[in-house]
This record gives sequence, structure tokens and C-alpha cells, in this order.
Amino acid sequence: MTNPIAYTMGVHDCDAYFYTEKDDANGAFCTRCGSLIEGYEFSPRNIGKRQFRGDWGTTYDGQYLITDHARKFLSKHKIKFHVVQANLKPKLYALFLDEVFKFDYKATGTRFVDYCEACRQYKSVVGALPCEFTFPPSFDPMKLYRSDLRFGTGREKGYVIAAGAHLKTLLEKEFQELYFEHVIID
Ligand SMILES: [Zn+2]
Repeated sequence: MTNPIAYTMGVHDCDAYFYTEKDDANGAFCTRCGSLIEGYEFSPRNIGKRQFRGDWGTTYDGQYLITDHARKFLSKHKIKFHVVQANLKPKLYALFLDEVFKFDYKATGTRFVDYCEACRQYKSVVGALPCEFTFPPSFDPMKLYRSDLRFGTGREKGYVIAAGAHLKTLLEKEFQELYFEHVIID
């Protein structure tokens, strides 16, 4: 059996922050290390972005944003995801992918720095790329996954996104701003 072919998906940063003072007030972040509290429910917001290049962007604090066009594309291809309104004009959504892949942190050599007793997370998770994957047995070349781990420091942590080979071809055709790297799976 040949191994599945997968790609990590790169998205340009869009010069914006997703989290607001309201998130701080609502206890979204650990007050000691700044990490996002697991299971925090985001409320709809308007981050006040006037211009947005392309259909995908990532914020400084690690959140993926998409336009209505990208949202429709994902729905059309039956990607499992949900969104929260992030901006009104242009209309932007925070993207949350519901399919998760297990990131092989041992093979990748990821470092976990400063364990925080308060929230039981590491303040920093460093070394996401080039990454190694362990895919679910039902791996599908038409799926879009996020990593189980979030990478970065404090509140500026984000997931790695990975696409199956077939979906990658479609994404590449539709959205020129995305870039992909081939991942070798053992
Ligand atoms: Zn903490």
C-alpha cells in the first residue's frame, strides 16, 4: 500500500489581530502564560479590517480568516468546518477546521517550552515545519485537516493546516495566494 500524499498549506498574514479586549475580559487567555484556554467559545466580532488581499489570511495571533468565496468553496467540497464572523466589510470569517491530524512531534523535533501549571499547557511550542504526520486510517485526499497541536508562543499560537492531494490541486487553482509543501509520511 502506498502512503497518502499530503501537503501543508501556507497562508499569508493579513496584518490584523483576531482577539479583542472582550476576549481578555471573558477569560479567553491564561493570565500567567497567555495561552488560549482550551474550549473557549469565540463570539462574532468585527475586527475593523477595510482591505483583505485574496480569500485567505492568517492573523498575528494565529487565526485563519476567509472570505465568503472561500467559505462557499469549502462547503461545495464538503470540508468539515465551522466559522465565526470576524469582520463586516469586507465580510470575513474565522475558520475552524473540524478534521484533526495527529502531529508527530517526536519525528519533527518539536520543542515544548515553559510548562504552565495554571492552564496545563506549554507557553511555547516551537518547530512545526517541516512536519511529520500520523494520519487517521481513513485519510481522504479530499479533506482539509488541522493539527492537534498549536504552534507559537503565548496567545500567538496557531494550527498547521494540511490538505489531501486532490483538494490541494483544487485549492491551488482557485486561490493563487496559498502555498503548499509536500509532506512525506512514513
Ligand atoms: Zn498558562
